[in-house]
Amino acid sequence: MKTIIIGGGPAGMMAAITAAQNGDDVILLERMRSVGRKLSITGKGRCNVTNNAPIDEFFQNIPRNSKFLYSALYQYTNEDLIRNLTKLGLKVKVERGQRVFPVSDNALEVVDKLKKEMDRLGVKVIVNTKVNQILVKDGKVEGVKTDDKKYSCDKLIIATGGKSYPLTGSDGNGYRLVQELGHTIVEPKASLVPLETYEKNELQGLSLKNVAITVKDGDKKIYEDFGEMLFTHFGLSGPIVLSASSYILRVKNLEEKLKQKKITIHIDLKPALSMEKLDSRVQRDFEEHSRKQFKNCLDDLLPAKMIPYIVKLSHIKEDKQIDQVTKEERTTLVNLLKDLTFTMKDFRPIEEAIVTAGGVDVKEVNPSTMESKIVSRLYFAGEILDVDAYTGGFNLQIAFSTGHLAGSVSKDVE
Ligand SMILES: Cc1cc2nc3c(=O)[nH]c(=O)nc-3n(C[C@H](O)[C@H](O)[C@H](O)COP(=O)(O)OP(=O)(O)OC[C@H]3O[C@@H](n4cnc5c(N)ncnc54)[C@H](O)[C@@H]3O)c2cc1C
Repeated sequence: MKTIIIGGGPAGMMAAITAAQNGDDVILLERMRSVGRKLSITGKGRCNVTNNAPIDEFFQNIPRNSKFLYSALYQYTNEDLIRNLTKLGLKVKVERGQRVFPVSDNALEVVDKLKKEMDRLGVKVIVNTKVNQILVKDGKVEGVKTDDKKYSCDKLIIATGGKSYPLTGSDGNGYRLVQELGHTIVEPKASLVPLETYEKNELQGLSLKNVAITVKDGDKKIYEDFGEMLFTHFGLSGPIVLSASSYILRVKNLEEKLKQKKITIHIDLKPALSMEKLDSRVQRDFEEHSRKQFKNCLDDLLPAKMIPYIVKLSHIKEDKQIDQVTKEERTTLVNLLKDLTFTMKDFRPIEEAIVTAGGVDVKEVNPSTMESKIVSRLYFAGEILDVDAYTGGFNLQIAFSTGHLAGSVSKDVE
């Protein structure tokens, strides 16, 4: 059977490997000059390839259409992926939050192992080749058209990814290819994306570890997390902020709420200490430095870059002698340390998102095969589908599992 795959990301490469293992004659068409461009920058170049949690727990980390992924994830689990990557010579390790990374901390090694396996199995990888049209006759896929050539096939797997980081090759053009065939595209939106805030950011470049954030919609808590974050020129970023974004995305009437300044991010700079404990700690510091000016006694509590900002927000005069600081003023300071609030203005653009929420409507795709319900012999894999997950390696597992399922189904050629 002749199988063509459009897109050489993790989903496409896994589909190619699986189809070739099943004896298909496989061609993979990739528009960029090499495969796996996005994969090579994942996990800050370290590639958080999957998660080591029991596969049942994956579904809690997939906020949208998780049921659609039952077959794909159970048929090719994280354990299967780890086993197969190990067979390909990739050693992996498990880090905080059960995140799985290559021991080498090098995403390029993952790309390299997949490429070598495709080579070994005789997959014909054709790069610098963009598919412009899918050819269909009598409701069945016949082939694809590139700028200068037509390729015929018995089965077509489309794995063109989402819309984020378009310089990696995934710019959303795959949506048009299948829209032309009658598929519905659920509006693509940024997920796992930095947040713009109304506050001017004087803390740009500062990164914080071991802080807690709470995101609120009015008075309602919608997200809580603990870990690392980063202040940028536009607002907030870093792992816990990116994760928060995919919860915020699901708030009803979000646009209106953003305009009304209802979505707020509360940073607890001292999550290990209760309000009372922090107050005693500050009191102790103040007693120790009673003759110093206020601005000069915060070094033990805060990173240097944050001190002028907190001093300003506290409305305590920076040169006030510590023994003149009132209890009320101290309480204001403690409150600030436990709840430094920012108001969300918007998400950063989809180009800066880690994943795209939205994509091919899964109602039009058979979950046990990944085949289109509209066009026979057309299969989907990876982020082109309307599925997305939180951070932790879940998105790559989805790409690998759907790629494996789409590649493993052998269609009788009539
Ligand atoms: C900065 C960053 C870090 C990330 N880190 C992680 C992480 O650590 N862990 C994790 O789980 N997820 C991570 N992700 C998400 C993960 O990379 C994606 O979910 C995953 O790559 C999706 O795989 P895919 O194969 O569906 O699509 P992609 O990887 O986007 O691949 C699609 C491929 O199709 C090609 N293509 C598109 N259109 C055409 C066409 N018309 N013709 C031919 N080829 C075409 C593209 O060039 C591209 O190579 C990260 C994403 C980003 C942007």
